Amino acid sequence: MSDTKQDCDLCGLPVPPKGYSVETAERTLTFCCEGCKGIWLMLNGEPEPPPERKATSK
Ligand SMILES: [Zn+2]
Repeated sequence: MSDTKQDCDLCGLPVPPKGYSVETAERTLTFCCEGCKGIWLMLNGEPEPPPERKATSK
């Protein structure tokens, strides 16, 4: 069995199974905690959602 351990894209710590992720157009970023995710979003801004996932505006 190969468990692929993710590292936090901000601080580099291992991401727990119940981690936080942000989908960008290029790849999915993973974070160890909500704080790291929040800081990344603050630094990089909200990513563009993947093209296939369109927001239904009704
Ligand atoms: Zn982190």
